Amino acid sequence: MDIDMDDLLIKGALVYDGTGADPAIKDIAVSAHKIRAIGKNIPKNARQTIDGTGLALMPGIIDSHTHFDAQITWDASLKPSPSLGVTTAVIGNCGFTIAPCKPADRDMTMRNLTQVEGMSLEVLKSGIDWGFETFAEYLAMLRGKGCVVNTAAYIGHSSVRTWVMGADASRREATPHEIEQMQTIVRDAMAAGAVGFASSTSPAHNGEGGLPMPSRLASEPEMMALIKAMGSRGKGVYMVTKGGQMPVSFLEDMAKQSGRPVMIAALLHNSTNPKAVFKDLDQIASANARGHRLIGQVSCCPLTMDFTLASPYPVEGLQSWKPALGLQGDALKAVLADNTFRQSVRAEITAPTTFRLFNGEWDKVHVIETSLPVHAALEQRTVADIAKSQSRDPLDVMLDLALAENLQTVFTAQLLNSDSDAVGRMLNHPNSIISLSDAGAHLTFFTDAGFGLHLLGHWVRDLQAMSLSEAIRRLTSQPASIFGMTDRGMIKEGMAADLLLFDPATVGRGPKRRVFDLPGGAARLTTDAIGVHGVWVNGQQVADSQGMLAQPPLAGKLLTEFAS
Ligand SMILES: [Zn+2]
Repeated sequence: MDIDMDDLLIKGALVYDGTGADPAIKDIAVSAHKIRAIGKNIPKNARQTIDGTGLALMPGIIDSHTHFDAQITWDASLKPSPSLGVTTAVIGNCGFTIAPCKPADRDMTMRNLTQVEGMSLEVLKSGIDWGFETFAEYLAMLRGKGCVVNTAAYIGHSSVRTWVMGADASRREATPHEIEQMQTIVRDAMAAGAVGFASSTSPAHNGEGGLPMPSRLASEPEMMALIKAMGSRGKGVYMVTKGGQMPVSFLEDMAKQSGRPVMIAALLHNSTNPKAVFKDLDQIASANARGHRLIGQVSCCPLTMDFTLASPYPVEGLQSWKPALGLQGDALKAVLADNTFRQSVRAEITAPTTFRLFNGEWDKVHVIETSLPVHAALEQRTVADIAKSQSRDPLDVMLDLALAENLQTVFTAQLLNSDSDAVGRMLNHPNSIISLSDAGAHLTFFTDAGFGLHLLGHWVRDLQAMSLSEAIRRLTSQPASIFGMTDRGMIKEGMAADLLLFDPATVGRGPKRRVFDLPGGAARLTTDAIGVHGVWVNGQQVADSQGMLAQPPLAGKLLTEFAS
């Protein structure tokens, strides 16, 4: 064998380089994990030769909003993302991380994740490898384990707060001394290789027993102190899932004072308050015009969630739902049956607000699965429709049905982001980033890990909402440049060989389906790739047209060096 032989040769594909430039048919040679040559000095053979005729080749997708922090400790393949074209995953979004964590806080951390990210406590308990305490030790552990895709990790605000304040983290503001301790942890994490600092101020983010996630208790001075600690070496992205009470003007001030980019989630379109998200985007655009880097995380997927009333994520952010939060069994049923409780929920879901997951759109809530045969005829009907035919109030219909079935009834709610005109404008906004897959979280509620394929199929091919080269730029070089991943996101000589070969005529994501492969055999939703012919991470193939390889190589790198 010729020792100078290239590792991979992809011939004749229409190459989209990730910059948004027009594509061209080229041959690509990969050697030593990097793109060695494009179009010229191409040999006839390589260790792996692929005929790309009739297909498109693009850089691998960078998923900027995932929650694989726990899963990555037991599943190095980060299912299902690699099969869906993702070659780099950013973990730790919203600040819901598992590092740093003292042994005494592990139980609380897992219980919080169970509530806020819809992860099963049993899965976390049997799955998480707690072979670390500090953030640097966590990174070292991940490096040792290896991963199928590249990963970059935020240092998470809620974990930092819990490390310093213990159980008080979810109960009160921090003292100046505690803020100083948190700053030290954030600085150390940045030195260890964090991609930035992530936080949440969203009222939808509640932990164990319905207490707010720790970061929600942070004062403005605490937030400002921590982003400054993050940016003290001139690096890092501040990521926040903001509640309606957190003004864009404050976020602009944070960008200004730290000199660092601010990524704002979750900008989703709400049909009952259709202008709110555009107001945020306008303010983000004005901030950029003043030289302050603000980026709005938007989604190309409608936010649809499956839920039962035993764990009704869509309504748990409501103020009026507080009395039911954290309760189980008979105690929960008693609250759900209570008329005063129902009255206040009814009042809240119809009152105007800037951001709310559920807005009383009962025509978008379907009964999916009933447990009693007598209710079978209600399946696939909307709650609005059932309420109308029974001349009853829709909230009563939903709660009474659930109560009659021991809270087993499965509903699905199309919550946000279902207006394609509005979402199309958000996807094309110059200061938005297409993101919010939430991969690794909410495993039984929804699965948007295939958001990139959905963008290429649904939005580009079917709706023609943007060009294919622009969509590819937004999934690749745009996130790479925001995060300072200078050797990824483009097909260029010398760049890392993260590649996705696909058929533009068929690309998309399949319907969601249930699989039982979590620790302990627990269920999760997944989706299959359509039109994907191959995925390579640093030059090594991890998926083909049948999905992820049975034994995918641990080809990913833990990314810890970022440009300023
Ligand atoms: Zn998130």
